[in-house]
Amino acid sequence: MRTLTYLTLDKDVLQLRQTEVDAFAPSISGGLLTAADCGYDEARKVWNGTVDRRPALIARCLNNADVRSAVRFASAHRMLVSVRGGGHHIAGNAVAEGGLMIDLSGMRTVSVDAGTRTAHVGPGALLGDFDRAAQAYALATPLGINSTTGVAGLTLGGGFGWLTRRYGMTIDNLLAATVVTADGEVRVASENSDPDLFWAVRGGGGNFGVATSFEFRLHPVGPEIYAGLIVYPFAQAQRVLRAWRDFTNDAPNELSVWGLLRKAPPLPFLPASLHGTAVVVLVVAYSGDVAAGQYAAAPLLKFGKPVGSALGPTLYAAFQSAFDPLLTPGGRNYWKSNNFRSLTDSALDVVIESAAQLPGPECEIFLVQLGAAMARVDSSATAYVARDTNYIMNVHGRWSNPCDDDRIRAWARQVFRNAAPYATGSGYVNFLTDDESERVVASYGINYPRLQMAKRQFDPDNLFRMNLNIKPAAPGAVQRSPIRAPTTLPEPAE
Ligand SMILES: Cc1cc2nc3c(=O)[nH]c(=O)nc-3n(C[C@H](O)[C@H](O)[C@H](O)COP(=O)(O)OP(=O)(O)OC[C@H]3O[C@@H](n4cnc5c(N)ncnc54)[C@H](O)[C@@H]3O)c2cc1C
Repeated sequence: MRTLTYLTLDKDVLQLRQTEVDAFAPSISGGLLTAADCGYDEARKVWNGTVDRRPALIARCLNNADVRSAVRFASAHRMLVSVRGGGHHIAGNAVAEGGLMIDLSGMRTVSVDAGTRTAHVGPGALLGDFDRAAQAYALATPLGINSTTGVAGLTLGGGFGWLTRRYGMTIDNLLAATVVTADGEVRVASENSDPDLFWAVRGGGGNFGVATSFEFRLHPVGPEIYAGLIVYPFAQAQRVLRAWRDFTNDAPNELSVWGLLRKAPPLPFLPASLHGTAVVVLVVAYSGDVAAGQYAAAPLLKFGKPVGSALGPTLYAAFQSAFDPLLTPGGRNYWKSNNFRSLTDSALDVVIESAAQLPGPECEIFLVQLGAAMARVDSSATAYVARDTNYIMNVHGRWSNPCDDDRIRAWARQVFRNAAPYATGSGYVNFLTDDESERVVASYGINYPRLQMAKRQFDPDNLFRMNLNIKPAAPGAVQRSPIRAPTTLPEPAE
């Protein structure tokens, strides 16, 4: 009798009978793949090229019924299960070695209602899909900065980008999510329906079930915004970054300016002599009126002597994919990140010293500017807790030769350690690597006990553990402080 080897939740190696697989297969509309099937290798690939895992089964789901069936099958066999949205997470948790991968990449629809300024988005949609559909009506919601990132994972972990200072995080614009929980039930979570689940999925990652649909609030944005890059030579890094930090203290909410330290790519507006040398880049996005953006961004050109700039009216949808060429899928990646309330001169010096030792042409350090609308939301209003994070340093170790694995990982870890004394100690689960599970509790801070209670309610056996995992509260455990009623988020200013 033919069998298929698989891994259980407890990492035991067991066998599925072929008859069991055959009985399961017809319930998955997009098909059930094993290693013997065409398309298997493509389906198990994720963005981070260091992740090379071989699931026993890949369920290509196309609707709620498929997802229910996959969840019930995994649960019945105590099979290790992973969920793939856009496949972008650095830790590669979308793929379970020896497990069942619930592949949502076929559920990629985005439907926009311009009248109500809302969008319904499938869990396989990428940011580019969402932005293109919403920009047809000059609408948008805050998303990330790389158009091939999945909406699902980004949203479940929190989500921020160029619009966050103006309109909050992605989760602050989530109106409802449909979730298939571990018991196979389909629940619609919103402020008025399953509010505890709604609270938990706004930052709690994929811990509470498989999200099969999201409803978002949209805002008028673009189609043109004032955006682009200002490039300074690395020798001016200290002066430029200190001026940038001071500038960000009173920047308008429409304006986001992120710092980027890396070796210059061959951008046409930079002199060829500069290509491949370290530079400091100010990345500018003003989402309001274009003329006001030009005025607001003008001081940024005077922080030193720029070696080049490309700043002007730009299609918002185009700017949303401006970084795609630097972040292509398949590269080897190891990231480390710290959250900061403020950036002292000493903290900036650590960043500059680290960038002076960039270990490769694709390595970079991003300094993300947050605050404003994101910080107006109470820390306990959603599972995402770190509302006091005004800046994030994201160290991108990125390379192509496996021989560089240890060297570049060591650099990223060292930068993280050196910056840690200036950081808050919290983290962003969407940026944590597969060796950072010990940072999960600190990343959720005061919200962790409530998340554990929600985990016990919606996934008591921890079926969904291929993520930055929240452990279910022990049976009988009670939360010491009462669970607060879901807070209605302040409506962001238009
Ligand atoms: C190049 C790059 C740029 C980025 N830029 C930003 C940025 O600007 N802003 C920002 O906030 N973040 C950013 N991120 C981080 C990004 O938010 C996370 O990587 C996010 O998890 C990606 O979502 P995904 O669906 O593509 O990933 P996946 O790897 O598919 O999933 C990530 C996690 O979520 C779970 N999951 C995915 N879909 C579902 C679902 N439908 N139901 C339940 N669980 C699910 C997975 O199991 C996995 O644990 C970036 C990441 C990369 C690699």
